[in-house]
Amino acid sequence: MNETMPAAAFFEEARHLPSLTAAGLAELAPLVVLAPHPDDESLGCGALIAAARAARLSVRVVLVSDGTGSHPGSRSHPPGKLQRLREREFANALAALGADPARRVCLGLRDTAVPLAGTRAFEQAVALLDAQLGETPSTIVTTWRHDPHRDHAATYALARALQERLKPQPRLLEYPVWGSALPGETQLAGGPPRGFTVEVGPHRERKERAIACHRSQTTGLITDVEGFRLEPAMIERSLDQPEVFLEMPA
Ligand SMILES: [Zn+2]
Repeated sequence: MNETMPAAAFFEEARHLPSLTAAGLAELAPLVVLAPHPDDESLGCGALIAAARAARLSVRVVLVSDGTGSHPGSRSHPPGKLQRLREREFANALAALGADPARRVCLGLRDTAVPLAGTRAFEQAVALLDAQLGETPSTIVTTWRHDPHRDHAATYALARALQERLKPQPRLLEYPVWGSALPGETQLAGGPPRGFTVEVGPHRERKERAIACHRSQTTGLITDVEGFRLEPAMIERSLDQPEVFLEMPA
């Protein structure tokens, strides 16, 4: 489809997509959620994970990168230590959302260097992901293809390749995390948004707690380098606006 749409209008429409019903939620399981970095799962789909777990549905959350890109050059938190810390924060966040941290998968691909489609490393990453899943999911939930972060776009490509490889083929849903950082006039191909939203309200307390578990990203825990810090406004937005799940052709 060649139809394009400015990002601002796309999001305005996306936020008003129909809300997911209990029956719609049940149809999604078993669910696999892909998070490029520890915190994406909470920011982008914390309410969906909490809702699915409250309904006792099967949810497996896969952390794609090792998370070491947030504080490069830190002496107090060199890569190995930072990875362990962030994977622990990720496990704590899953517990806060009601998901079983023992079912998490950490692929450990290098942060800011998640392999891109068309490379041998990409094929290896898809095979690794497939091998780690256990059961074939009914739905793969991944970051949005247009999210302005290379690892987020690379994770979308991984998810799409995984979808094509699995039988029966699961549904694929995309959740924007950094969509608000796209200039509003950016032209997006593919036509108007299709999919659904999930209201944060009933799960706000869990989602807020899950985000706060990522202390290395939300507090001054690591001070020796100027690392990444989630802005309070970004956190507020993720709690105040419905989560968006797009279901659109490849
Ligand atoms: Zn991310």
